[in-house]
Amino acid sequence: MFDLTTRDIKFLTGVGPQRAALLNKELDIRSMHDLLYYFPYKYVDRSRIYAIREIDGTMPYIQLKGEIRGFELAGEGRQRRLIAHFGDGTGIVDLVWFQGIKYVTGKYKVHKEYVVFGKPAPFNGRFNIAHPDIDEVTELKPSTMGLQPYYNTTERMKRGFLNSRAIERMMENLLKQVTEPLTETLSPAILATHHLMPLTDALRNIHFPANAELLRKAQYRLKFEELFYVQLNILRYAKDRQRRYRGYVFSRVGDIFNTFYASHLPFELTNAQKRVLKEIRRDVGSGRQMNRLLQGDVGSGKTLVALMSMLMALDNGFQACLMAPTEILANQHYDTILHFLEGMNIRVELLTGSVKGKRREAILEGLLTGDVRILIGTHALIEDTVNFASLGLAVIDEQHRFGVEQRARLWTKSERPPHVLVMTATPIPRTLAMTLYGDLDVSVIDELPPGRKPIATIHQFDNRRESLYRSLRKQIDLGRQVYIVYPLIQESEKIDLKNVEEGYERICAAFPDCAVCKVHGRMKPAEKDAQMQRFVSGEAKIMVATTVIEVGVNVPNASVMVIENAERFGLSQLHQLRGRVGRGAEQSYCILVTGYKLAEDTRKRLEIMVRTNDGFEIAEADLKLRGPGDLEGTQQSGVAFDLKIADIARDGQLLQYVREVARQVVDADPEGVLPENEILWRQLKALRKTNVNWAAIS
Ligand code: ADP
Ligand code: MG
Repeated sequence: MFDLTTRDIKFLTGVGPQRAALLNKELDIRSMHDLLYYFPYKYVDRSRIYAIREIDGTMPYIQLKGEIRGFELAGEGRQRRLIAHFGDGTGIVDLVWFQGIKYVTGKYKVHKEYVVFGKPAPFNGRFNIAHPDIDEVTELKPSTMGLQPYYNTTERMKRGFLNSRAIERMMENLLKQVTEPLTETLSPAILATHHLMPLTDALRNIHFPANAELLRKAQYRLKFEELFYVQLNILRYAKDRQRRYRGYVFSRVGDIFNTFYASHLPFELTNAQKRVLKEIRRDVGSGRQMNRLLQGDVGSGKTLVALMSMLMALDNGFQACLMAPTEILANQHYDTILHFLEGMNIRVELLTGSVKGKRREAILEGLLTGDVRILIGTHALIEDTVNFASLGLAVIDEQHRFGVEQRARLWTKSERPPHVLVMTATPIPRTLAMTLYGDLDVSVIDELPPGRKPIATIHQFDNRRESLYRSLRKQIDLGRQVYIVYPLIQESEKIDLKNVEEGYERICAAFPDCAVCKVHGRMKPAEKDAQMQRFVSGEAKIMVATTVIEVGVNVPNASVMVIENAERFGLSQLHQLRGRVGRGAEQSYCILVTGYKLAEDTRKRLEIMVRTNDGFEIAEADLKLRGPGDLEGTQQSGVAFDLKIADIARDGQLLQYVREVARQVVDADPEGVLPENEILWRQLKALRKTNVNWAAIS
């Protein structure tokens, strides 16, 4: 059996060193195997030949058979074009070229029969086809008469005449060389049970499908395989870890939890909160180490769930900690939790970078004796000097600021790894969460506490400042506070900072009687905190800021969020920012300010924001608009998103199905030794080797 991975692409007929270098550089295709796995992005049905008289202006691509009756040059300058009058006995269309005129006139002959393929468009009372594909009738092979594959190419490739057609020809040559089956990459059992096409057939049909049905089968097989190995990889790691680490068992719900629930909780839990607490309770009682992702929109009450989970740890003689991404957030959590636990005689401490000297020593000491039961803090918590008597649960707030590595460091804080609860307000579509955090179970709080008024979102063009300021003025007169946020993106940092400064000046001028504060990432932390504090205390009525306020700040009195240059933010970021308001009982507003001219994508984003407050709907839309690679939180997660054929946004159902298949394999063969799975483990090993990111998942 031959191995295409060891065959250099430059030795393929029709490639050569120059094209090989291009393929190499532009598409990272090095071996014949790489080329074979470069799949078309679409197919066009070339199985039918139309008559010119049938053209009705609504057709996408069509194919005609006829002859060129004559050539004509028309237009001047950029309008200069070559026209070929093409007839088939039922009518005439014009074939038009704006470039390569010499080449075309040299190549195609009048009164010879051709098959022409392209997109017809009406022009001056006739149809024309710009830059058509033309084949001599005798040249047509069956493949070009069925579904024709289209391959993505880059600008540089096109300049080197390496277009989709050229790749198609290389692929034909390559498949001619595949005279015997390639090494199968799924086990016979899986192929049979799930009715999957054999690998070699699938690869043939993905490039040159004999018909639509075979194409569908080929796509299904290849998507199945791709998603299957992603899941097998994650689940296999999770299994290994489970076998290595047992979790602490929190066997009971005790006095602390019950006292809190009965007499300290100022409101009823929402049903969603109750459900999630049950899920957590089941995990921590199971003997397995919990790794749970808690998703819930901003304001859905995650912090309370976290606190009550920590109380379960305390009831079983363990300590708990909560780690937040910023000092301000850690402070807020500390205040909130102290307030909730008032009178319960539980020692809660705050540890951040600014806690120093004697105070710090006392906390570290208290952690070792077990006197400190709950520790709240920032990254300072995972420093080597911080050690616990018995850490049973670690809660991580706003997960996307912490990488996998930091999660892992928590494990060294205790004899066994503590249970881990990760909270995030960036709703991640379920399908994506599964791919990202295969070893994390997911809980969702999909319900807001009662009495919240939905935030009203308005899109406004930036030439209507007067009316915007009038609205702000009204809110301030009602005693409310206002955020005004500007984008700050690395590469244009200087301009962005200038925008913030100018915005600040403008606001100060428009609201001379109001205290205005200003916060941006270039400030020293102490100065930033001081400015934030002015807003939190209510002294400053307006805060002009960059996105530093994005995460978690809680000022219930703030009722308006103005987002300047809203076109420059992604959907999830807009949603995060909007979540800063609407925390009190008053009606809140989010105003998205943009310029007048907007790209199609941007308009869609803004429409979605105006239409819905549902974080999951927004996340799904974001995934569809941007693709998963750009989604917040995916960069640090260590998962490669170079899926070749499956699409997480569209193939969610298949992903879930395949995950079950992978789970069964891992459950039945936890050590990876069963002979019937040999192919699977071998293939997984090979993939881990070539895909660096895969090995990093923990
Ligand atoms: P999150 O962390 O999910 O953004 P928080 O935990 O900060 O949300 O909760 C937002 C606000 O709602 C807090 O003031 C909290 O005390 C309050 N809250 C939480 N759960 C409930 C509930 N079940 N009923 C009423 N208010 C709640
Ligand atoms: Mg929160």
